[in-house]
Amino acid sequence: MTHKIVVVYQSLLGIYGDRGNAKVLLKRLQWRGEPAELVDVEPGQPLPPDGLIYLLGGGEDQAQIAAVKQLQADGGLQAGLDAGGVLFAVCAGYQLCGRSFTVGENDEVFAGLGLLDVETRRGPQRAVGEVLTRWTRPDGGLELLTGFENHGGFTSLGSDAKPFAKVEIGVGNGTDGYDGAVQGRVIGTYPHGPILPRNPALADYLLELALGRTLGPLPRPDVNAEHDRLRAQRLEVVRTTKNRAEQTR
Ligand code: GLN
Repeated sequence: MTHKIVVVYQSLLGIYGDRGNAKVLLKRLQWRGEPAELVDVEPGQPLPPDGLIYLLGGGEDQAQIAAVKQLQADGGLQAGLDAGGVLFAVCAGYQLCGRSFTVGENDEVFAGLGLLDVETRRGPQRAVGEVLTRWTRPDGGLELLTGFENHGGFTSLGSDAKPFAKVEIGVGNGTDGYDGAVQGRVIGTYPHGPILPRNPALADYLLELALGRTLGPLPRPDVNAEHDRLRAQRLEVVRTTKNRAEQTR
């Protein structure tokens, strides 16, 4: 069976380069000899019900509204989750998975998909800058994640959602000292970067969650060495850059 990595509405939720998340998931499967393909779905096309991982990215306000309306009409994300898929959503994608969100200066409230028990409202200032978070892996291990955030909405978690990672530098949800939320097989988070190429351990975790089995280490020393180099560089940058989001907090 060819594993499907489903990129949802690139034309609406594609301005922050989060497509890189799909590419790294695809390559990390293929490098391990697992058949995999990218499936691009655009508004008006039905989402496939048999995706291994569904990906939502960041987007501008009007695109976010258009995307949530299309996804409500389609219903395919819920079907994909019911069939055992995993949903990984970034920024606008994270917000629209919640119960509701506001966008723009008018603070108009829009219903989200209700896949995460979170609500997003306009924060006191826009969060823009490098992010460092501490993710506690389900096996108890700790992993530092780096990324870049750019969002006006701040997100509050309800009791059904658990925070994803603790913020060390940056803003994240902006309400609780954490970034993102997890509920069942849905994970939402703020950082772009894209986050999965920057943090391959998180990419492998998503693959293992979706496959329901562990994957061995990536059998590509050249790629692993390059990832280590890039990670060290990004950790250095986030720790030394004066962070605009921190400054204005
Ligand atoms: N429109 C949302 C906000 O500003 C999401 C932005 C984004 O996806 N980067 O909060």
